[in-house]
Amino acid sequence: MRILCCVKRVPAPGARINVTDDGRQVETAHLGFTTSPHEECAVEEAVLLTEAHGGTVTVLTLGPPEAVEQLRYAASVGAHELVLIPTGAGGVGGSPWDPQRTASALTEAIASREAEHGAFDLILFGNESADAGGFQVGVRVAHALGRPIVNGVKDIEIDDDTVIARRAVDAGFEVYELPRPAVLGVKEGLNLPRYPTMKGRLASKKVALEELMVDADPGGQSMIRLHRPAEEISKTEILGDSEEAAAKVVDLLEELGVLQ
Ligand SMILES: Cc1cc2nc3c(=O)[nH]c(=O)nc-3n(C[C@H](O)[C@H](O)[C@H](O)COP(=O)(O)OP(=O)(O)OC[C@H]3O[C@@H](n4cnc5c(N)ncnc54)[C@H](O)[C@@H]3O)c2cc1C
Repeated sequence: MRILCCVKRVPAPGARINVTDDGRQVETAHLGFTTSPHEECAVEEAVLLTEAHGGTVTVLTLGPPEAVEQLRYAASVGAHELVLIPTGAGGVGGSPWDPQRTASALTEAIASREAEHGAFDLILFGNESADAGGFQVGVRVAHALGRPIVNGVKDIEIDDDTVIARRAVDAGFEVYELPRPAVLGVKEGLNLPRYPTMKGRLASKKVALEELMVDADPGGQSMIRLHRPAEEISKTEILGDSEEAAAKVVDLLEELGVLQ
């Protein structure tokens, strides 16, 4: 079984995001980077599926050269092949990376890998990215490849020629049976991603990494300006220590109308 996971390098959650003076970019100088929890679950699920059924896990990202860090992390937890579409200086330039263009670049890279190595049985995306969160890229890629997609997936089972995907809804689960090859957008909670071991980290440095240049159709959206929303300040008040605080907690609960 050949499984592809698409992951995106994003600022670490909780980081303070600043915008450059010209309002055109996120200031990245002091930011830590990661992949979204949904995508970590996608990689974990792909590794689990290949451990159970055999096969390979390829991880693909479009991003700056530093996105190699996220690819190596994926290799340290079990991915077998890494592919980077480099952007920025020395990489693919041109119009902005709006979701259409991102999807076009990923589709082109997938088609090129499949022409060389055979079709992926399953392509996994995160439900949405942790920064822009457009919910668009997976759906656009699936549409361009002419493959079925289900988003919001919390459980995956592989059958002979099909994939069974379960989506959590208020009343329980919706169950989908998709012919392979298929595309799924997965959500955090699908599994508990493993942490890389020291052995895994060392081995990840030897995993083959291919750089792919693509044409990527221009998307058509244009950025006006990035704007940092006003900060919401949350305040914590320490009411006291141990028993001394108890009476104050009761007063507060009464004030909030929780206690009558
Ligand atoms: C007008 C405009 C200009 C922009 N210009 C830039 C720019 O110059 N540089 C820039 O970095 N961003 C830019 N962005 C942001 C960029 O469009 C999005 O981050 C990108 O298209 C992905 O969309 P998304 O984050 O909403 O992903 P979603 O659609 O929410 O992502 C769903 C899933 O798709 C996969 N995915 C998403 N992005 C990637 C990726 N890059 N590689 C691999 N898999 C991926 C992941 O699995 C993710 O969980 C721009 C956006 C707009 C609207």
